[in-house]
Amino acid sequence: MEIFTETECHPLPDGEVRVLGAVRCVTGAMTRVEMGGRKLLIDCGKPQGNEARGWSFPQEAADSDALILTHGHFDHVGAIGDLWKKDWTGPILGTRATLDIARIVLEDSCHLTHWSPKDTKIFLEWYDSSTKALRYDHPDARIDGFDGTLVLREAGHILGSASVELVSPLSRVILSGDLGRPETPILRDPNRTWDDSRPVDFVLMESTYGNRVHETEPEEVEAKLLEVIRWAQEQRGHIIVPAFAIGRTQTLLYHLNALVESGRVDGLPVAVDTPMGLNVTATYQRFKPLFDREALELYAHGDDPFVFEDLYAVNRGRDSAKLDDVEGPMLIIAGSGMCTGGRVVRHLQELLPDPRTTVLFVGYQADGTPGRRIQEAAKDGGSVWLSGEDVVVKAKIETLSGLSAHADGPSLAAWFKSIPGVKRVGFHHGDPEAQRGLAELVRGGLS
Ligand SMILES: [Zn+2]
Repeated sequence: MEIFTETECHPLPDGEVRVLGAVRCVTGAMTRVEMGGRKLLIDCGKPQGNEARGWSFPQEAADSDALILTHGHFDHVGAIGDLWKKDWTGPILGTRATLDIARIVLEDSCHLTHWSPKDTKIFLEWYDSSTKALRYDHPDARIDGFDGTLVLREAGHILGSASVELVSPLSRVILSGDLGRPETPILRDPNRTWDDSRPVDFVLMESTYGNRVHETEPEEVEAKLLEVIRWAQEQRGHIIVPAFAIGRTQTLLYHLNALVESGRVDGLPVAVDTPMGLNVTATYQRFKPLFDREALELYAHGDDPFVFEDLYAVNRGRDSAKLDDVEGPMLIIAGSGMCTGGRVVRHLQELLPDPRTTVLFVGYQADGTPGRRIQEAAKDGGSVWLSGEDVVVKAKIETLSGLSAHADGPSLAAWFKSIPGVKRVGFHHGDPEAQRGLAELVRGGLS
């Protein structure tokens, strides 16, 4: 078997796989697979943060016959608007949940990038008329002119997420998409059962945490969360959680629900102060059949993990502003996840100087973001620049690891080893070090 890191082009018996985005980094996933007489684009993401510098939409992406989405995160769907601007026409395929979440993300990004209401409307109508929903594990052969089949397999990363398996008379290719951690609440584990009747010419894998091992087990999350809540309750302070609207917010609600329903937490109002988070949570509730066994058992016992005592949805901006004046304890979940914008910024301006406040980070804070600066300021007693204002950091800063939506190195390697007869494997969606780390793990299992 051949192993490739940081490689953009991989030949197939009847075509090629060309990695157009997230080649040596983690955002902007986009890959074109040419096989079975068609060019299929897998994901159409936009790079974010520092990785966005100097990016332009790759011409090869517009030269494709169909778009297949692995999941709805912005870095996998954010460039669909660029495809539309190039007058691209073709079907957009994915699970129904993915297509719905992608629509929420695209609409939000139209607002953020100041598209006119007219353009936004025409674009979303085009999107709606282009989408075709597929079911998991059902081979689909409806892509016009494609001599082969497409199958989506559970990827366990966010609701609706899928790995993509493409089979033509001459080639078989598997693209992992983003893979989740096994045992993640709500979601089923990533698929590890494959047809072993024919070899796999090429596997393209994500490698975000390819060189890391997650230290916090999902079970430990609730203990840590409880500790943070108890302290805030003693101080009668606010807990601000800068949260990512898709996936992370729902996982956090799941854990909070478990703490409240079991009586371990009482008297803590929880405000979900992110319209996108509320929208995505409603989408999760619409797709209960995709949940894992544990979540379904909760429902069977009459417990909805997204509904509990003292949980409030904050839709309107003016209600959001009132939350800071209400006496604590109170937990506020607000975007954006790295404090680069959104409602969380105002809460932080108000509450960071108050030593009774806790800021609870639930995700990675990239270099150069206000979130990272808050983490540093907690150590050096400094301040953070937020929306034109220097804000002193007196709040307690906590980080809850263990909510990652990505599998770590050993889980990624275990997923890979579940695929029989792989001839070549390539990595993307990870920095060069993570790719090399994963290559080592994959190689190690072969000797
Ligand atoms: Zn993702």
